[in-house]
Amino acid sequence: MFDLSTRDIKFISGVGPQKAAVLAKEVGVRSLHDLIYYFPYKYVDRSRVYRVNEIDGNMPYIQLKGQILGFETVGEGRKRRLMAHFTDGTGVVDLVWFQGIKYILAKYKTHEEYIVFGKPSVFNGRVNLAHPDIEKKDEPKLSAVGLQPYYNTTERMKRGFLNSHAIEKMMTIVIGGMNDPLPETLTPRILAKHHLMPLTEAIRNVHFPPNPEVLRRAQYRLKFEELFYVQLNILRYAKDRQRKYRGYVFNKVGQRFNTFYERNLPFQLTGAQKRVMKEIRGDMGSGRQMNRLLQGDVGSGKTLVALMSMLLALDNGYQACMMAPTEILANQHYETIKGLLAGMDIRVELLTGSIKGKRRESILAGLLTGDIDILIGTHAVIEDTVHFSALGFAIIDEQHRFGVAQRARLWSKNAQPPHVLVMTATPIPRTLAMTLYGDLDVSVIDELPPGRKPVTTIHQFDVQRESLYRSMRQQIGEGRQVYIVYPLIKESEKIDLKNLEEGYQHIVGEFPEYQVCKVHGKMKAAEKEEQMQRFVSGQAQIMVATTVIEVGVNVPNASVMIIQNAERFGLSQLHQLRGRVGRGADQSYCILVTTYKLTEETRRRIEIMVRTNDGFEIAEADLKLRGPGDLEGTQQSGVAFDLKIANIVRDGQLLQYVRRVAEEVVESDPASELPENDILWKQLKALRKTNVNWAAIS
Ligand code: ADP
Ligand code: MG
Repeated sequence: MFDLSTRDIKFISGVGPQKAAVLAKEVGVRSLHDLIYYFPYKYVDRSRVYRVNEIDGNMPYIQLKGQILGFETVGEGRKRRLMAHFTDGTGVVDLVWFQGIKYILAKYKTHEEYIVFGKPSVFNGRVNLAHPDIEKKDEPKLSAVGLQPYYNTTERMKRGFLNSHAIEKMMTIVIGGMNDPLPETLTPRILAKHHLMPLTEAIRNVHFPPNPEVLRRAQYRLKFEELFYVQLNILRYAKDRQRKYRGYVFNKVGQRFNTFYERNLPFQLTGAQKRVMKEIRGDMGSGRQMNRLLQGDVGSGKTLVALMSMLLALDNGYQACMMAPTEILANQHYETIKGLLAGMDIRVELLTGSIKGKRRESILAGLLTGDIDILIGTHAVIEDTVHFSALGFAIIDEQHRFGVAQRARLWSKNAQPPHVLVMTATPIPRTLAMTLYGDLDVSVIDELPPGRKPVTTIHQFDVQRESLYRSMRQQIGEGRQVYIVYPLIKESEKIDLKNLEEGYQHIVGEFPEYQVCKVHGKMKAAEKEEQMQRFVSGQAQIMVATTVIEVGVNVPNASVMIIQNAERFGLSQLHQLRGRVGRGADQSYCILVTTYKLTEETRRRIEIMVRTNDGFEIAEADLKLRGPGDLEGTQQSGVAFDLKIANIVRDGQLLQYVRRVAEEVVESDPASELPENDILWKQLKALRKTNVNWAAIS
């Protein structure tokens, strides 16, 4: 048998170097092995054809067979959509397209037999299928296919003729050609004891399941394996790290910390901030390298904790650095921290991609001589050219935007890795964090500074524009500022940018008496900065932006956050955006604008947002609502692990279960020397080589 892991996918017939390059770039699939581990995100039950009169809004993907009676375009501008009235004689259902209208009209004819696949939903009391797949076939292929797999693809993949069907074909070739079994990755003992399907069978059936029951068993086996190795990795290697990495000992609370605390600190710390400071001080004095995750809802005051911990490092003769995911955020941290340290003899510098030439050289020199105490920046901070004289402490803000690989690079900035504090506003339920990160300690700021008025959240439909503008006028009239956010998600970048641009023009036309600025990720850093500055300074009253403002931006005078197409955002992202307002003393508002047409899940998301401001409640709900195949969800996932098939919440019980299985292995074979476990240790090694997350975390 050839080795799947070294066999390049370009050798599959019909693939070739170009498609191979797209697959590698877009979804990281390079070898045949990668390919067979690229699992479907959904399946369509092709084992039967449904009748129109039996479908309802709660069904999964189904297929129908019938004809299009006629087409109709409805709505104007961005809401323009094409409807096809489809019937099989038992009733009529609407097929709806929001994009590609011309293409659809040219491709499909009335009064011809089609097989239509889609997910039914209900709008205005009528069932419809949005963006269905349509095939022209005289007869549907029935149970011969069983469940048909659907694979996630990106825009660029589709343009490169790599849609779900194409991937399905590749799978057929590779899996059909697997004459020998794949090398098993679990021991016979584990397979037998936990009634698991052998690997080869599981792979075959996860792509081409004959029926739902077999699919379930195949998925179970693969999830078991995935979670088992995550746990085995933690149990086997976490202890090594503790032995390997000693930590700098910061046992002094010195002049800088005390001066700040007594003279500069503008308010009382909250109880939660005090508790977390204690935890951090404990770690820093322990002789072990600190590796701590600090969770705190937006606005809970993480920056202050970060700063005070940095002062501890300084008092003990070390430098500190802080990395933010965007330039805007790095700038803002820099300004905030300089402000808080006013009058103290501490040199703080900013390093980002746009700081170049002499300025950059002087900063690099200052870091080496130790003249610079605190460095704040973006990824630029971990570039190879940046050397410190004595980096003792590093903070990563908003971790979900940072790869764990980058975190690992930080470690090499001093002879012994610095203490690391990772701050995030995306809370991961505590038990989950412990199980997943193993040795990463978790601190939580679960209390907001006093005097905050909770943000009032309102859901509006996009046709209620007039009332929306009235509220905006009123707030701006009272001296407040307003954010308007548009979605920008990779999949449909061009359309999104167009929406943002149209929205901007519209607002400029609607509010001639006010200044409007615009910020999105495709702008040059300098231009972005200038636009941002217009808003921060109060010169502009309205900011039209994409989610680049999602993390950390602090403009206390902004009291209204309007989120357009709120249905396209995930819960934690909505919560992050909402956190941009409600930072001052005034009552703030978050307005979620959606179309009328909402899926059940979206409706629930919006309801949760309207009901609560509690970040933890939202995080839990988010994890529960999110499906494993939800693109948007994976994009904003706060979890460092890139799980291919398991879902940490839905499979929470399995996670606990395999934790025990992994514990048994480690306990009964502490030195990893039992021949029967060879398979496991070999596989773990192989995984650690390919999974950068694992090597970095443990
Ligand atoms: P986040 O946790 O989102 O990073 P920040 O650190 O930006 O929150 O803090 C949000 C706001 O709350 C800032 O304006 C900060 O000055 C203020 N703040 C932080 N701690 C306190 C406190 N203990 N009392 C009052 N205000 C505080
Ligand atoms: Mg922050």
